[in-house]
Amino acid sequence: MMKCNVIGAGVNGLILARELSKLDVPTTVYERKKGIEPSKSSSGILSASGLKGLGINVKNIWLNKLYGANIYFDKTVLHIKSKDLQAYGIDREKLNIQLREEAESNGAKILYGKSISKSELSNMDGIIAGADGAVSNVASHFGFPSIKRFVLTYRAEYKAKKEDMETVDLFFDNNITKGLFGWIAPHGDEIEIGVGIESKLGKSTDAFKKFIMKKEVKDLIKDARLIGGGASIIPIALRERFAYDEKNVLLVGDAAGQVKSTTGGGIIFGGNAAIIAAKAIHDKINSKTSLESYERNWLKEFGMEVRLHNLIHSIYSSLSNRQLDYLARLLKALSIEKVLSKYGDMDRPSLIIKRMLKV
Ligand SMILES: Cc1cc2nc3c(=O)[nH]c(=O)nc-3n(C[C@H](O)[C@H](O)[C@H](O)COP(=O)(O)OP(=O)(O)OC[C@H]3O[C@@H](n4cnc5c(N)ncnc54)[C@H](O)[C@@H]3O)c2cc1C
Repeated sequence: MMKCNVIGAGVNGLILARELSKLDVPTTVYERKKGIEPSKSSSGILSASGLKGLGINVKNIWLNKLYGANIYFDKTVLHIKSKDLQAYGIDREKLNIQLREEAESNGAKILYGKSISKSELSNMDGIIAGADGAVSNVASHFGFPSIKRFVLTYRAEYKAKKEDMETVDLFFDNNITKGLFGWIAPHGDEIEIGVGIESKLGKSTDAFKKFIMKKEVKDLIKDARLIGGGASIIPIALRERFAYDEKNVLLVGDAAGQVKSTTGGGIIFGGNAAIIAAKAIHDKINSKTSLESYERNWLKEFGMEVRLHNLIHSIYSSLSNRQLDYLARLLKALSIEKVLSKYGDMDRPSLIIKRMLKV
C-alpha cells in the first residue's frame, strides 16, 4: 500500500498523523527537533468550539478558561465579555504530547531528530505532506507559489498576574505593532506579553521593547520576574496552491499559510486542513481520486472565513492610530461590545453575521 510521509511534527503534522493512522494509512512523520519541547515562542489560545471540532480533549492540557477580550486603541477601550466560555489557554507542549500518543497508538511512526533535506524529498516513495511550518522546504522544493506576507512576533512570560485572568488584552497601536497587535494574556498562573509586526515594517524585538514601555504593560511587569520568551514568524497569507496531485504532494498548516490573518492563529484552520487532507490522502491511495479535492474542500469550508479575516486585517493595519480610535468609538456607539459578547466567534467571522441576522 502507498504510504504517507509527513514532514514536521508540529501540532498540524501531528493532527494529520493522528487522522491518517485512524484511516489505516501507513504513516511516518519526520521531525528535525529531538523531541517535543516547551513552547517558548508561541501561545495557544484556542476557541472551545474549534478544539471540539478538532477532536481535542482539553481535560489534561488547559491552562486558562477565557471569556472575552479588552481591546485597547489610542484612547478608547472595548470590553467584550461573554457569560459562556469562549476559549482555552492551552499548554502547547502537553497538546503535542497528547496528539503524538494518539497518533502512535493508532500505528503512526514518528521519528524525531530527522531533518529532511531537499534531496531526500526527491527520493521519497509515496505521498508527501509538508507540515514543516512557515518557511517550508517542501513548498519550495515542489514549486508551490510563495507566501507573500508574514508577521514577526516576540513573546515573553512573566511571573505576574493581571487583574482579570479570564480575559485577554489586545493593544492596537500602529506606531508599534502595525500588521498585528500587542497582547497581555494569562498563561496558567503567570502572564504572557507579546507583539507582532508585519515583517517588512520592522523587528519584533524592537516592537516588544516599545510595547513594554506602555503604561498598562510597564505597571504590570515592573517587579515581575521574566521567565522566558522567544521570537517567531507567522504567515498571514494563504498560498495560492497547496496540493499538487501529479506530484503526490500537499501542504498543511503554516506551510500552506492556513492562518487567521487578524490574529496569527493557525491551529484551528491548520488542524481542520489536516483532517480534510487525511481523507483526501486516504481516498487517493484507495480509489485513486485526486489529492486536489483537499484544496477544494478546505476552501469550501474556510475560503469565506479567510476572506473576511483578510478584510478586517487590511482595515485595522492600514489606519493611523487616530483613525483606529475614531473607528473604535463609532463601533462602541453602535453597541459592538454587546454584539460581540453575545454573537462573537474567534474563528469564523461569518457566524457573527449569521447569528445576528437570525435574531
Ligand atoms: C507568538 C505566537 C502566538 C501564537 N498564538 C496562537 C494562538 O493563540 N492560537 C493559534 O491557533 N495559533 C497561534 N499561533 C500560531 C501557531 O503557533 C501555528 O499556527 C502552529 O504552530 C503551526 O503549526 P504547524 O504544525 O503548521 O507548524 P509548526 O508548528 O511550525 O511545525 C513545523 C514543524 O516542522 C519541523 N520541520 C521544519 N522543517 C523540517 C524538515 N526539513 N525536516 C523535518 N522537520 C522539519 C519543525 O521543526 C517544526 O516542528 C501563534 C504563533 C506565534 C508565533
